[in-house]
Amino acid sequence: MAVELGTKERIDFLKKFDPEIAELLECEAEKQKRTIGLIASENVASPLSTCLEGSIFTNKNTEGYPGKRYVGGTENEDKVELLAIERLKKLFGCDHANVQSGNATIANSAVFMGLLKPGDTVLSMALNDGGHLSHGAKFHFSGKFYNIVQYGVSQENEQIDMDEVRNLARKYHPKMIVCGGSAYPRLIDYVEFRKIADEIGAYLWVDAAHIIGLIAGKVIPSPVPYADVVTFSTQKTLRGPRGCGVILCKEEWKDKIDRGVFPGMQGGPKADMIAARAVLFKECMTPQYMEYQKQVLKNSQALAEGCMEEGLKLVTNGTDNHLSLVKVTDLVASGREAELLLESVGIVTNKNVIPFDMLNSNLTSGIRIGSPLMTTRGAKEEEMKRIGHLIGITLKSKGDPGKLEWVKKEVGEIVEKYPMFSDEWNLGGE
Ligand SMILES: *Cc1c(COP(=O)(O)O)cnc(C)c1O
Repeated sequence: MAVELGTKERIDFLKKFDPEIAELLECEAEKQKRTIGLIASENVASPLSTCLEGSIFTNKNTEGYPGKRYVGGTENEDKVELLAIERLKKLFGCDHANVQSGNATIANSAVFMGLLKPGDTVLSMALNDGGHLSHGAKFHFSGKFYNIVQYGVSQENEQIDMDEVRNLARKYHPKMIVCGGSAYPRLIDYVEFRKIADEIGAYLWVDAAHIIGLIAGKVIPSPVPYADVVTFSTQKTLRGPRGCGVILCKEEWKDKIDRGVFPGMQGGPKADMIAARAVLFKECMTPQYMEYQKQVLKNSQALAEGCMEEGLKLVTNGTDNHLSLVKVTDLVASGREAELLLESVGIVTNKNVIPFDMLNSNLTSGIRIGSPLMTTRGAKEEEMKRIGHLIGITLKSKGDPGKLEWVKKEVGEIVEKYPMFSDEWNLGGE
């Protein structure tokens, strides 16, 4: 099971050999069980998939690609990798997939490496408006070696301003346009992005790291028919283990993308990681998985409603996906203070910059909240709305220890009800 610590014998041995790590492992299991996890980029990994992470596949060097390895004896790993790729093609209807990147930031770097030359112009969404650091932030590889132009959201409705995107594209003629981010609660207009990219002959790359689970579950539109390249991580809404970046692309870009990953960005991939993802992708095609993703969306909307009923303001006034951004500076000094206050009652969130933020990224004016993890634990709409209320009550109760103590007790009652991975989603049995 995902949250069990291992077989009893192994844990007993670990306790004897390395009591420090054994204790931290137990503390972490306790903490995960006893808190309401709302970090939008976190989930509880599929137990079936987790079984394969760290399995004996890890012993094998598999540098290269199936049929073109630089070492012998890879026949089983070749089959595993080809299965993972076939399943992705079926799941998303894409031409080609690469599953070797060690995380999505590496996969994104490989897209730059494979499709562009240093100095090429790229149009992407600003980090402060919800984009990701690997789309050209100054401190990332992409921002150091490429000419980055950025678009943001409109002051009026806090959503992507397609006129601004079109104007910037016409003015700067980027080789690539990027959309998709880490803190954007609304749907993205892929049709319009495609039109703009076609008008100037640019690649369209969609980074779907956050929303890929909702796409796999078919509860929000897929970018695959429109994009040249789609990248994602497997640990967020997709509900797999952390540490794998996937790239889907059109047939034409297959070789460039594969060479971008290996040898462009890394050496031999982890065969155990790929086996774990192959199982995950099979899980993504089950009816239970579709139900889970429907519930993630319903729960996200219920959580947002709960917050708004308490008078909290959300960026864009709501959400179309698994996450919301809550503006907190009417009630507390910063997102950082909100994060700490909520953590003190057992609700785990993260501070997050919001569009047109007046505070820096260490303080911020918002928090980001999401539904994937509590949905995996089995929470439904009513409970999520209640959690939204508790967030509001907490932020209003700064300096009222009695009230905060009361919220903490409520949180305790909620987490008591749920296992880490609800039986209704569990395909792995006991
Ligand atoms: C989380 C995220 C990534 C990075 O994923 P890692 O697997 O942690 O490297 C990339 N892009 C976006 C939009 C993300 O939200």
